[in-house]
Amino acid sequence: MEMSSSMTDSKIVLSSVHILLTYKCDSECDHCFVWSSPHAPGTMSIHQITEILKQATDLKSVNSVYFEGGEPFLFYPIMLKGIELAKQSGFDAGIVSNAYWAEDEDDARLWLKPLANLGVADLSLSADDYHGEDESDRRVANATRAAELLGIDVGVLRVKSVDGCAANDAGDVFFRGRAAVKLAEKVPFRGSSTLTSCPEEPPDIERVHIDAYGNVLFCQGISIGNINNRPLKAIIEQLTPERHEFIGPLARGGPAALAEELSIRVEEHYADACHMCYDIRCKLRAEGRFIEALQPDQSYGD
Ligand code: SF4
Repeated sequence: MEMSSSMTDSKIVLSSVHILLTYKCDSECDHCFVWSSPHAPGTMSIHQITEILKQATDLKSVNSVYFEGGEPFLFYPIMLKGIELAKQSGFDAGIVSNAYWAEDEDDARLWLKPLANLGVADLSLSADDYHGEDESDRRVANATRAAELLGIDVGVLRVKSVDGCAANDAGDVFFRGRAAVKLAEKVPFRGSSTLTSCPEEPPDIERVHIDAYGNVLFCQGISIGNINNRPLKAIIEQLTPERHEFIGPLARGGPAALAEELSIRVEEHYADACHMCYDIRCKLRAEGRFIEALQPDQSYGD
């Protein structure tokens, strides 16, 4: 469903597709946006990945494909084949992982060598207190050294702990998904009327995530279409961000505008914009509104 808008309509030029290979993860972190856990369903087959790559190619503007989750290394042969196919399609390939597999540097080299041989452009490693502090840091350090030796560009995505010491290079937690439920109460709240911008910075949309259910996601839990019903090219070309029921209000004034335009009663204070946005979306789902767009259930812990 699309709404009218007084803003100038814009079009999307997608440069990156992020494949959520699985919602399954070896960990169950409090700050996880998508409620990943060892028990989460929603894992792609190689046939689904092949179809996504074909549809991304049809768009002609996409130049990079990321494999993430959940934890994509849990399905290593599928991830490897997916990267091979992505490279054959002419895309740069990247991976996001928590490095659970990097017990020591030699092990890490064995895991990463096939990826280096395929020419993986970027390895982003998640490190934070929520992955188990020292253990997480040790594995991430092993994976970082191995990647550097193999010539893979590697970076660390470090998230601040809300109740511990924060490393200087750490980014803020966004309180959506499990983080909204488990962590938001631990930080100072702000007035809801001040939460007037969305960190995804709509209406500019340069990347989408696609999951095993076919959802094309603007943000975790906000689907702009499903590739099982409509090709990615049509979903992207037919989307006018300013007229979309969620992206439009978020572009005009963040979650504060979203609540007002969708007539949802909200709390007076929230931990951040994502906390408010997630609460609005949960309330809409509870009322049975916009269910098709507020997908997948996994992103709401259902
Ligand atoms: S405000 Fe909403 S749409 Fe924007 S990044 Fe946060 S959760 Fe996502």
